[in-house]
Amino acid sequence: MVSKVVFGRGSFNQLGDILSPKRLNVKAPFIFIVDDVFQGNSWITSRIPLAYEDKIYYISADEEPKTSQVDDLVEEIILNYKALPSGIIGIGGGTIMDLAKAVSIMLTNKGESKDYQGWDLVKKPAIYHVGIPTISGTGAEVSRTTVLTGPERKLGINSDYTPFDQVVLDPELTKDVPKNQWFYTGMDCYIHCIESLNGTFLNAFSKSYGEKAYELCVELFLDNNLTEEEAQDKLMMASWHGGMSIAYSQVGVAHAMSYGLGYLLGTKHGVGNCIVFNQLEEFYPEGVALFKKMKDKHNIDLPQGICANLSDKEFDIMIDVALSLEPLWENALGKHWKKTMTRDKLKELYLKM
Ligand code: NAD
Ligand code: ZN
Repeated sequence: MVSKVVFGRGSFNQLGDILSPKRLNVKAPFIFIVDDVFQGNSWITSRIPLAYEDKIYYISADEEPKTSQVDDLVEEIILNYKALPSGIIGIGGGTIMDLAKAVSIMLTNKGESKDYQGWDLVKKPAIYHVGIPTISGTGAEVSRTTVLTGPERKLGINSDYTPFDQVVLDPELTKDVPKNQWFYTGMDCYIHCIESLNGTFLNAFSKSYGEKAYELCVELFLDNNLTEEEAQDKLMMASWHGGMSIAYSQVGVAHAMSYGLGYLLGTKHGVGNCIVFNQLEEFYPEGVALFKKMKDKHNIDLPQGICANLSDKEFDIMIDVALSLEPLWENALGKHWKKTMTRDKLKELYLKM
C-alpha cells in the first residue's frame, strides 16, 4: 500500500515541504517526470519546487509507456548524475505515473525493465517515488503495478516495491482534462469496480472499496446536482478506492481484451476499455446497461469498427495477448474459464468492436 497520502484542493502546494526532508544530499536530485501537456503552463510548473540539480523531464502521454522508454530514461539519469536521485516524482495521468514508478524501480534493479514484467520479480526496493495524478480513474496512484508495453507483452511490473511512497491527491489539478478523456479514464475506474465486484476473487477487502468506488461513480456520472469541484473530488476518491479494490482481487474480461487492443493497435487504456466494455452485456449485463446510460448522458461517441480490417495473423496476436492474462480470466469466469473463452469467441467479440 501507499504509505503516505495528502488530499485536498491546493495540496499540490505542499510538495516542497513533503520533498525537502527526503533530499539525500545536494548532488542527489529530485527528478520530476511531468506530462508535456503542462509544459508552459505556469499554474502547475511554477509550483514544482526545484533546487540544486533537480530536473524536469516533460514527457508525452500520447503513447502508453514502453519498457524501452523506461530503460532509456534510466540510462539518461544514470549518465547525467553522479549520484542516484533522491526521488522520482510523476505528475500526470496513468501513463506518467506508471513511467515514474518503473523508472524508480529500474534505478536500483539490474537489467532491462522487460525482465520484470510479471508478478513479484523485483529484487530490490525502488528509490523514493511520489505520484501526483492530474486525471482520475486508473488507480495507478494507488496500485502495486506499473503497466508497460514490452517487446513480447503488455504487462505490469507487479511488486511490493511498485507502490508510491507518497501520493498527493489534489483534485484541482484535474480541472482542465478534456471531456472525452475525462469520461474514458473515469470509466476505467467504473470498469475496475464492475470487474472486481463481479469476479470470483472477490473478498470483503475488495468489496468494501469496490462498492464505495462504484457508488461514487454512479453519483458523479449520473447526478445532475453536483458542482464541478464536487465531481472532481469524488472522481479522485473513486479512482483511489477502485484501485484499492483491484489490489486484492483482479480485473476481468474488459481489461484482458483491452490489453490485446492496446498491444496490437496502440489503443489507449481508457478508451480501449470503453470500446470493449460496450460489447460485454453477456458478461456484465447490469454494469454495461449503466455504462451505456452514462455514455449517452455525456454524449460520448466511441470509435467503431477498429477491428474491421484486421488480418487473421493480427487477430491471433491480439488473442494471444488477451489469453495470456490468465488471472484476469480466472477472476472473471472461474477456474474453468478456458471452456468458455475460446479463440473463436474472442474473435467474434473483437469483430463487434
Ligand atoms: P494518460 O496519462 O494516458 O493521459 C490521457 C490524456 O490526458 C493525455 O493526453 C494527457 O496529456 C491528458 N491529461 C492528463 N492530465 C491532464 C490535465 N490535468 N489537463 C489536461 N490534459 C490532461 O491517461 P490515463 O487514462 O490516466 O492513463 C492511462 C495509462 O494508465 C495507461 O498506460 C494504462 O496502462 C495505465 N494504467 C495503469 C494502472 C496501474 O495500476 N498502474 C491502472 C490502469 C491504467
Ligand atoms: Zn484499468
